[in-house]
Amino acid sequence: CFRLTDLDNVGRTPRHHTFFEMLGNFSFGDYFKEEAVRWAWELSVEVYGMDPARIHAAVFTEDDEAHRLWREVVGLPAERVVRLGKEDNFWGPAGKTGACGPSSELYWDYGPEHGCGRPGCRPGCDCDRFVEYWNLVFPQFDMQPDGTLAPLANRGIDTGLGTERLVAILQGFTSNYDTDLFRPVIEAAAVIMGRDPDDPAVRHRLWAVADHARALTVALAEGVFPSNTGRGYALRRLLRRAGRLGFELGVEEPFVFRLVEAVNGVLGASYPDLLPRAERTKAALFREEERFLGTLAAGMEVFGGIVKNLSGKVISGRDAFKLYDTFGFPVDLTAVMAEERRLSVDLDGFEAELAAARETSRASARFRADDGGPSVGGLETAFSGYDALELDSRIVALFDAANSPVDALDEGGDGSVVLDETPFYAESGGQVGDTGGLTTDGGLFDVTDTQKAGLAHLHRGRVAKGSLSVGETVRAAVDGTRRRRIQAHHTATHLLHWALRRVLG
Ligand SMILES: [Zn+2]
Repeated sequence: CFRLTDLDNVGRTPRHHTFFEMLGNFSFGDYFKEEAVRWAWELSVEVYGMDPARIHAAVFTEDDEAHRLWREVVGLPAERVVRLGKEDNFWGPAGKTGACGPSSELYWDYGPEHGCGRPGCRPGCDCDRFVEYWNLVFPQFDMQPDGTLAPLANRGIDTGLGTERLVAILQGFTSNYDTDLFRPVIEAAAVIMGRDPDDPAVRHRLWAVADHARALTVALAEGVFPSNTGRGYALRRLLRRAGRLGFELGVEEPFVFRLVEAVNGVLGASYPDLLPRAERTKAALFREEERFLGTLAAGMEVFGGIVKNLSGKVISGRDAFKLYDTFGFPVDLTAVMAEERRLSVDLDGFEAELAAARETSRASARFRADDGGPSVGGLETAFSGYDALELDSRIVALFDAANSPVDALDEGGDGSVVLDETPFYAESGGQVGDTGGLTTDGGLFDVTDTQKAGLAHLHRGRVAKGSLSVGETVRAAVDGTRRRRIQAHHTATHLLHWALRRVLG
């Protein structure tokens, strides 16, 4: 299962995840409550070897049948079978009418030392003593339009057993993140960051990073890639959160892609499809991280300044827009960072700024033409240079030598080209980026440098032949110096892997 509904809690608690595995058994008009109860107990105690004295059951208040089964079939003492209300132990119907029924949960008792100590502490209490690990749902009613419950023609069973919780119980941990499902990934992240994985000051960030690395590795292997919409946007948010957490711990280069091996070490035996896709996954993660981190550093500094000078609890739409426009900060990232400091963001104000900027982007580009580079507004370039040195792309913007936006550049003209996707690596910090050529049907542009501007790559240079126009298709090709650098990087990565295997086994 993959979900982002509790994203803010992931890393803060021992049991929230964006990616988790659910075990279950089902019956459609076949076996029913007695078998489900008996088998859940049998698997817990006889197969998994859990201490029967520490297992409690919860049933729906009115479900006398389930209460009796736990006592008579399983032999649980009455004081270890609690009756809970509809919000805890009743499922459905999905709409106003249809299949629904009571549920029954199994709880593991971590012991009074983990409890709140209140006299009423029992399964369902919000402290850490009793942890639900298995939910058995008994769809047995058919809710009528008038709200009455008729018997369901085909009764069923639908159970869900949380794998991460089960593993934590079996391995004797209270946190899922201490189990061998997460620990190798956390330790790999700690090595990259030069941190102690158990340092309370960084532990929760490492938990979140490990969770996100698992989710991203599995989702990318399934063929979902970061993008600006739908499922792809969910991945983009996850990777940006992981990247920012790493950045806060001093990692200023892509690192999540380096956790893919550790994730596959844990999950690869169960999900062999992950392994042949590992290189593709790593390349996609690297590209996405590289693109995001370029602007993160500068933006974090500006964000810190905004917070420092803030009077009140709300970051203005104007400041949020400045982070977005100049540093490529997605507004939801600004909102998350604000929330962590108990602040909020004026989202309506942000939208208003965004709309106004779209109206006047051309004019403002001219106005700011002399401050060092063109204003790229919301332009984004996808970087694909980790695994491709040549690709077909499209011209999305052109700027002349004075950094004013133009529709075309003619032979001999200096300027900058923005593509929707590029293999050209843009160096930050004033170094020279990739060089090469952009070829169209009727023109050739010599790229003498590639620089970052917001989330766009600016290919700077001169039209050597013919002309270029916005909207045209181009063949973008990086020259050989780039190829040698890539190869050196790959060699270094392989040497590092070899050395780590020798040292760490
Ligand atoms: Zn309690």
